[in-house]
Amino acid sequence: MSNLDYSFDQQHIWHPYSSMRFPTPTFGVTAANGVRLTLDSGEQLVDGTSSWWACIHGYGHADIVAAMQQQLQQLSHVMFGGITHQPAIDLCKQLLALAPNNLTKVFLADSGSIAVEVAMKMALQYWQGRSANTKSKILTVRRGYHGDTFAAMSVCDPTEGMHSMFGANVAQQLFAPAPKTPFGEQLIADDTAELEQMLAEQHQQIAALIIEPIMQGAGAMWFYSAAYLKRVRELCDKYQVLLILDEIATGFGRTGKLFACEHADIQPDIMCVGKALTGGYISLAATLCSDEVASGISDSPAGVFMHGPTFMANPLACAAANASLTLISQGTWQQQVAAIETQMQRELAPAAAFEQVVAVRVLGAVGVIELNHTVDTGKLQQEFVKRGVWVRPFSRFIYIMPPYVINSEDLSQLTAAMVEVAKLTRAPTTSQFISHG
Ligand SMILES: *Cc1c(COP(=O)(O)O)cnc(C)c1O
Repeated sequence: MSNLDYSFDQQHIWHPYSSMRFPTPTFGVTAANGVRLTLDSGEQLVDGTSSWWACIHGYGHADIVAAMQQQLQQLSHVMFGGITHQPAIDLCKQLLALAPNNLTKVFLADSGSIAVEVAMKMALQYWQGRSANTKSKILTVRRGYHGDTFAAMSVCDPTEGMHSMFGANVAQQLFAPAPKTPFGEQLIADDTAELEQMLAEQHQQIAALIIEPIMQGAGAMWFYSAAYLKRVRELCDKYQVLLILDEIATGFGRTGKLFACEHADIQPDIMCVGKALTGGYISLAATLCSDEVASGISDSPAGVFMHGPTFMANPLACAAANASLTLISQGTWQQQVAAIETQMQRELAPAAAFEQVVAVRVLGAVGVIELNHTVDTGKLQQEFVKRGVWVRPFSRFIYIMPPYVINSEDLSQLTAAMVEVAKLTRAPTTSQFISHG
């Protein structure tokens, strides 16, 4: 049976958004292959999370494993200051070939949150270079999520995020209402009215607008209209504000387009990618920018871009990303994501009839059941494990973002479990645990 020291884990190891006094239950995983996680009990679970939206090609993919093994033997890490290497050059070539074509420069970062920090710093240094030092605020929309570091937190939803916890340590940014118009619909007349008013009145203080394109993920599990995003681009141009698109969750096919900004046929000035960049094998993210942004930064008093992490462009991570992007470039993801979308639309639909369900939403390889109450993540997780699947609900959302390689039988097991568990849930009558992440 179990060889894992769960008691040590509970006493000494933090897990995401967890308490050391009341540790949330954890499941030991000993191996993973394809879409299956093997627990230390020997049980196998079909994974509906892609390990937080990253593992798009499934676990143990031969190409990625081979690329990493080969890289490990040759050069696992070397500093990037004054040194360069083939894996980084190959990766940036591949990234620029796939990304919106106005983006020409790449900064390789350690994680999504850091890519967001870098994007915000780029915007500030850009305006210093254009002698517009007053442009130092970041504008965003409510219900966003951009990461857990301090600058990233400052642009997360100000009420559901961590602003109140850290008070003055979180920079004061500007928040417009969350986009209301659903994906696929004509823009609701006043949806961007307040955003435009803020830009009109305060653009001289605004360096950049940051937004998750099309899908507001961890803050809302909401898909909004491409027309809204198109309007955001127009407003940024009109008021001379840089547009930062956070494609960390949406990049590499998740919403049915390679990048979600393609739904709106627009290009950002700065773009963040992460999560699925390495196929979910190892941490790596990137911030891409245009020639104009890079040139503004060069004109700034510093003259250089002031960031340089110790493990920048880690060759092992670059090798994994190269193998993952090579798979993406082959294009199979398009049929896979389209098939997942069609099947989820069909199989999740019955949940819409439950009284505790507010809405069922599907876009690309993302399927969401929104409930009318907050769930106990730990409790529901156990229900899912009983049904042989790995799904991690949070707040009012039961959702899946499966690996693109999932077959229809395994996907049916996931959707059936989601519908069954949604049916079991009830709005709490007494106080209950609030769970995060
Ligand atoms: C996950 C996520 C981040 C943060 O990425 P980390 O790698 O967890 O730091 C930022 N933005 C979006 C949209 C995300 O989904």
